[in-house]
Amino acid sequence: MLLPEQIPQRFVFIPQIDFMLNGTITIENLNGKELIKTKFDDMGDEHVLTSINTPLREDAFELDDETKMELIEEHFREIMLILGLDLSDDSLQGTPHRVAKMYVKEIFSGLNPANKPKVSLFENKYQYNQMLVEKNISFHSNCEHHFVPIMGKAHIAYISNGNVIGLSKLNRIVQYYAARPQVQERLTIQIANELKKVLQTEDVAVVIDAVHLCVTSRGVKDATSSTVTAEYCGKFLDAIKREEFHRMIAM
Ligand SMILES: [Zn+2]
Repeated sequence: MLLPEQIPQRFVFIPQIDFMLNGTITIENLNGKELIKTKFDDMGDEHVLTSINTPLREDAFELDDETKMELIEEHFREIMLILGLDLSDDSLQGTPHRVAKMYVKEIFSGLNPANKPKVSLFENKYQYNQMLVEKNISFHSNCEHHFVPIMGKAHIAYISNGNVIGLSKLNRIVQYYAARPQVQERLTIQIANELKKVLQTEDVAVVIDAVHLCVTSRGVKDATSSTVTAEYCGKFLDAIKREEFHRMIAM
């Protein structure tokens, strides 16, 4: 069985569906030795995180946005036709184009590093070297296992090493990484790593509380649960700093 990246023709649609239906994937154990072979279907709703980096093809950006939109439009039309929808209906006619544009320009625009927010550092003139918390940053993302929305709030803290960034940049960083097919754990770590890089400090923390539509609207259909993930680095590994952060979130 071919892995998706081994499929020779890049944009063949049906073989990929076939792969999705019949394929197996191989997951390495924590000890890095034993290999477990599993069918995609066995994975079911287990939201397995396989890597911190978003799994991207090497040729991910060889096609420009316009070409990507044309191809997605074509393929999405196919999906709708397969579902039995009548695309001559006025209401449905424009849907393939709308979906393609939304994927490339909006909800998955964060796949492209060209769209990464530009962040400039400012000198911390007030010598404020306490914790800075920006809480309740709302975001929308999409679950990479089901392609349905994840909606939630991110809470961010950092301790300045002498540099600060504009507060709205914290929102922009969250939105950029959310605009990808995501797994909540990876989103949390990607935001924390980016903050460490731009703020030039290890002292950052990120907590995310989110609702996954793949859990609320389908599958187990639990309307009330949410998922909380956290990444604590540097001084936030200390329990006292962590508690202070959580007290500020709860305020
Ligand atoms: Zn899901």
